[in-house]
Amino acid sequence: PRIETADILIIGAGPAGSVAAALLRQQGRDVLVLEKEQFPRFSIGESLLPQSMAYIEKAGMLRAVVEAGFQYKNGAAFAHGEKRTQFDFRDKSSPGWGTTYQVQRADFDKVLADEAERMGATVRYRHEVLAVDVEGERPRVQVRAPDGEEYTVEAGFLLDASGFARILPRLLKLEKPSGFPVRGAIFTHVRDNIAPGSAAFDRNKILITVHPQHQDVWYWTIPFSNGRCSLGVVAEQSFLARYEGSESERLRAIVGQDPGLSAVLADAEWDTPARQIVGYSANVESLWGRNYALLGNAGEFLDPVFSSGVTIAFTSASLAADCLARRTAGEVVDWEAEYGKPLRGGVDAFRRFVDAWYAGGFQKIIFHEKPNAEIRRMICSILAGYAWDRSNPYVAEARRLKILEEVCGG
Ligand code: FAD
Repeated sequence: PRIETADILIIGAGPAGSVAAALLRQQGRDVLVLEKEQFPRFSIGESLLPQSMAYIEKAGMLRAVVEAGFQYKNGAAFAHGEKRTQFDFRDKSSPGWGTTYQVQRADFDKVLADEAERMGATVRYRHEVLAVDVEGERPRVQVRAPDGEEYTVEAGFLLDASGFARILPRLLKLEKPSGFPVRGAIFTHVRDNIAPGSAAFDRNKILITVHPQHQDVWYWTIPFSNGRCSLGVVAEQSFLARYEGSESERLRAIVGQDPGLSAVLADAEWDTPARQIVGYSANVESLWGRNYALLGNAGEFLDPVFSSGVTIAFTSASLAADCLARRTAGEVVDWEAEYGKPLRGGVDAFRRFVDAWYAGGFQKIIFHEKPNAEIRRMICSILAGYAWDRSNPYVAEARRLKILEEVCGG
């Protein structure tokens, strides 16, 4: 069988893989990206956070993303029964971008992958990685080409950006339980027909609706720039299992339980079959090993509630590219100190907020009637994705959120 060589081999052309490819091309590295699907392809994960814009900019993709015409996003709105609150990301404590986009991922991921290609990365679509061997001096992967032929690539360094497929964690048995209960999501895209200027729905914000009776069940409504919305519900698997019928029927039944959301979507056309995804939370023993690192969802995935997935994916790509630059310069890279630990720092800050969300304490904070403006700006920073900003006490001090929950009656 044929053996090829590559300097840097990346598995997957999602956000993590494409941004890593672009950053490594800036260093003049040879980059080969192997992607199982033909693009454009559907993916979930459509609401970006402002923090992610810094990485799009760093990767040289800002103009392409802006010109693609995605839905402008400046914040997050929350609803629970009669209660409403909203955060404008520009009113945050951390420096940096305060606005971003909500994107159809089929289009967004293609823009990023095309940009990586334009910068000189080789992207091979419909090339599926089947097996990986990291025992030798250089990692080897076995690949199936679109014509069914198999071949081997031997790489100087391997980046696994295979998302929920989690190629290396599965093949190398690096997986570890996430610690969250098994939750799932049922979701679709609708033609929303929401009147422009509707008081109940600001197209410039994601709308998160808490189920009127179950505080750990929530809905997302993510508007796109073409008059359509992504709509989904997240709940424990046992809750979702109570609903029978097609995914679309189940989603409609659960949406129907919230009067506020039902009113927002009163004129919506449900023209696309819904889908379900269950048990997406995942973790790994280690985010790196000899001559390889795990990016984005191939490493750890928490939960969708704070729309942090793509931001974490980009952060991992940037940290890994920086480590690889130092390695090329002949420095000894301590991957745990320079990659694993810094990446986990922000992920752990998000995790505390996810825990507080499902326990109900975070909802008490955001719906509090007399919020402290300064604290709200710090919370807003987290919602905008600045979970690595250690000047924010809600990032740097694990206890701070608990204390605030208690003050707010959580
Ligand atoms: P992916 O985007 O999954 O890309 C991985 C790529 O690898 C794919 O293109 C795949 O085809 C390819 N691949 C897989 N296996 C192979 C193989 N064997 N060989 C070659 N290629 C392969 N994130 C947000 O930022 N905002 C949100 O609003 C949001 N909402 C979410 C809602 C839900 C219900 C869920 C489950 C997740 C949500 N996320 C959200 C998370 C987001 O989907 C992911 O974090 C993000 O897509 C991760 O990007 P990635 O590049 O790591 O992986």
